Amino acid sequence: MKRIYLDHAATTPVHPEVGEAMLPYLTERFGNASTLYSFGREAKEALEEAREKVASLIGANPQEVFFTSGGTESDNWALIGVMFARERKGRHLITSAIEHHAVLETCRFLERRGFEVTYLPVDADGLVDPEEVKKALRPDTVLVSIMHANNEIGTIEPLEEIGEMLQQREVLFHTDAVQTVGSIPVDVKALQVNLLSLSGHKLYGPKGVGALYIRRGTRIWPFIHGGGQERNRRAGTENVAGIVGLGKACELAAVDLEERAERLKQLREQLIEGLFARIEDIRLNGHRTRRLPNNVNICVEGVEGESMLLMLDWEGIAVSTGSACSSGSLEPSHVLEAIGVPPAIAQGSLRFTFGRENSEEDVERVLEVLPPIVTRLREMSPLR
Ligand code: PLP
Repeated sequence: MKRIYLDHAATTPVHPEVGEAMLPYLTERFGNASTLYSFGREAKEALEEAREKVASLIGANPQEVFFTSGGTESDNWALIGVMFARERKGRHLITSAIEHHAVLETCRFLERRGFEVTYLPVDADGLVDPEEVKKALRPDTVLVSIMHANNEIGTIEPLEEIGEMLQQREVLFHTDAVQTVGSIPVDVKALQVNLLSLSGHKLYGPKGVGALYIRRGTRIWPFIHGGGQERNRRAGTENVAGIVGLGKACELAAVDLEERAERLKQLREQLIEGLFARIEDIRLNGHRTRRLPNNVNICVEGVEGESMLLMLDWEGIAVSTGSACSSGSLEPSHVLEAIGVPPAIAQGSLRFTFGRENSEEDVERVLEVLPPIVTRLREMSPLR
């Protein structure tokens, strides 16, 4: 049976050319980039080349790119590093209710340390209203952190408008762009952000490597303490092979970014139309058009997401659901809750996220397999 992977928002396979680029840095070019002899120098050169590639994909200067262990560390560093560095100015931070846990849990940590956080609501499509951001600003607001696109429902936030408004004030702007870098054009100047998080494994690079863009002149504390790597801002011997992989992934992403987005959008539309034509009582979550080209998120009434996920898995199809089974109860996702999906309906959520290797045949297979699964589950369901 051919397996079909439709969970690229969770992670992507390493592109073969990325794997090839990394291999020498796991074998003969194993030097520590902080050493002065040739082994070290070639590692250092590889780091700087990767930095240029990452910077080029997001319209930054290479000096503004700092390597981390991934999206989670970048988010933690941006929030904690800025709030601690600017404590004298104020202790207030604004974010949205639909951020990834990497941001939300960092906010909770900051709240326990005496900082204040405003969690902005979103509308039914998952959009943050720039006017609401403006209204939430206070004299002691130091930072606004709003994600570029949501990882569950795919909604793309109006960052340009928020960035423009914050430019006129002394408030820093961070975005978690983990789901957009490599998927849609991302330009730090157009978005007017001071800080931006990205992650390797969402764009066909390896896991455990990412970067934080820090605009020149931004005051931020280091988050990992130790040696003087990354110009004294992020200690620890660099993950050279991982960073080379991230650089290569960024280079490859740039080559066909817009054509790929267009192709994935067609698969997205094919799936949305096909699902609505074949299954009754479903709803699309997220904005209809301002959404990631590869994201389809639906709720199927009267059926549990986990049951559909497992039955699709038996057919070799990998998807994800917004409800996570924890401590025996099915917790609906905070994102679906924030856009107002009733808890009983949120239980039936499914997320499909396409990638490079998917084709129309994959969509056809889902459209062949899912409707009978829904029918069977609905027949068995006590909910209907
Ligand atoms: N932010 C968003 C929006 C994500 O989707 C993810 C990954 O799921 C992360 C942050 C965390 O990134 P990483 O897995 O590289 O730590």
